[in-house]
Amino acid sequence: MKKILIVGGGIGGLSSGIALRKIGYEVEILEIQPKFDIYGVGIIQQSNALRALDALGLADEALKRGCAYGMVKMCLPHGVQVAEVGVPPIGRLPSHNGISRKIMHEILHEGAVAQGVIFKMGKTVTKIDNQEDGVLVEFTDGSTGFYDLLIGADGVNSKVRSLVFGDYKAQYTGQSVWRYAFDRPVELETGYIFMNRQSKAGLIPMTTDRMYMFLVTAEGEDNPFIPENELVPRMKEYLKSYSAKMIQDVIEQITDPKGIIYRPLETLLVPAPWYKNRVVMIGDSVHATIPQLGSGAGLALEDSVVLAELLDSEEEISVALEKFMNRRWDRCKMIVDVSKQIGELEQLDWKGQLPEGVNIGAIMGKTLGAMMASI
Ligand SMILES: Cc1cc2nc3c(=O)[nH]c(=O)nc-3n(C[C@H](O)[C@H](O)[C@H](O)COP(=O)(O)OP(=O)(O)OC[C@H]3O[C@@H](n4cnc5c(N)ncnc54)[C@H](O)[C@@H]3O)c2cc1C
Repeated sequence: MKKILIVGGGIGGLSSGIALRKIGYEVEILEIQPKFDIYGVGIIQQSNALRALDALGLADEALKRGCAYGMVKMCLPHGVQVAEVGVPPIGRLPSHNGISRKIMHEILHEGAVAQGVIFKMGKTVTKIDNQEDGVLVEFTDGSTGFYDLLIGADGVNSKVRSLVFGDYKAQYTGQSVWRYAFDRPVELETGYIFMNRQSKAGLIPMTTDRMYMFLVTAEGEDNPFIPENELVPRMKEYLKSYSAKMIQDVIEQITDPKGIIYRPLETLLVPAPWYKNRVVMIGDSVHATIPQLGSGAGLALEDSVVLAELLDSEEEISVALEKFMNRRWDRCKMIVDVSKQIGELEQLDWKGQLPEGVNIGAIMGKTLGAMMASI
């Protein structure tokens, strides 16, 4: 039995672990956190992400513990709908599932434990000797291990990437996102995005009775640090310019600065190939996208499914990795590039400089439609 080390127990690492155990590999996941600590706002799963989860046998569980919804309603700040966007349903899988990140992580973690993945928590790698037929790894506790393949799934600031592929840094885009969870009002029957003059806000169902809000703002080129005591008043101030009832109804519920998940938006596309000898990188470590198309985690899930399929079908690991690169590059590049472009256009729009004839909604719709293509 071949032995694989996955560095990083996020969505990419856990889903790879499940997919590889299912085809008979021995899998260890090395996670730097001593205990998983996942925040409680939500994530959007489009039908293509659900298709990848279905391949792992987990789509039904995600739909049961999340909240399926249809196309997203694009609205003006006072609430009038102007368009609809989203990835259309794929077979029995709905356009979208909103789910709490914590719950999604639990589903994947439970799936990995049930498949017999071994977890090494609170450690990372210090040295990777990447040979032609295997990888010798040294860990922070002084121990070592030899593996047939190492998968780097340690996110946007990947240590595996820096040890094996060199120095790549994610780029701040000038936008930040503010998120907060609320009780879900009955009238929120699907996802909503409200496009405003200098920001945009979205409301996404997470379960039958909870939803989360995202608010995307331009915070300037120097990526300012926002002290905790300013989070609540600043988020509320931005939201005052939305007169839509669904937004106005929740503004006063934003009271806890610790409940605001504020994140500057960063993007990174590492040039191909994402493998070298017996190390391959997946997920945000090589294609971190800003969430304008809500697709980063979906891409990480797809990476896992495609990688396992190829490792199963190819005799040679090197051939599987080359085919993996060919299957994933165009699709991941499209999402990273278009998401970045949408972010740039939004910022131009907020300055009143959007070029004539550019329709951001149409760019979103076209790209999301392309996500239905098989992987
Ligand atoms: C604001 C925001 C909103 C988003 N919304 C969506 C959405 O709605 N839908 C969607 O599909 N995507 C969304 N994304 C993207 C999505 O969150 C990421 O694409 C996804 O989490 C990537 O998964 P990953 O496993 O590659 O990396 P991560 O989720 O970053 O996981 C990496 C894991 O590796 C661990 N780790 C880090 N360093 C080390 C190390 N040295 N050694 C061992 N372990 C390590 C970390 O602790 C973590 O557990 C969003 C992203 C942002 C920033």
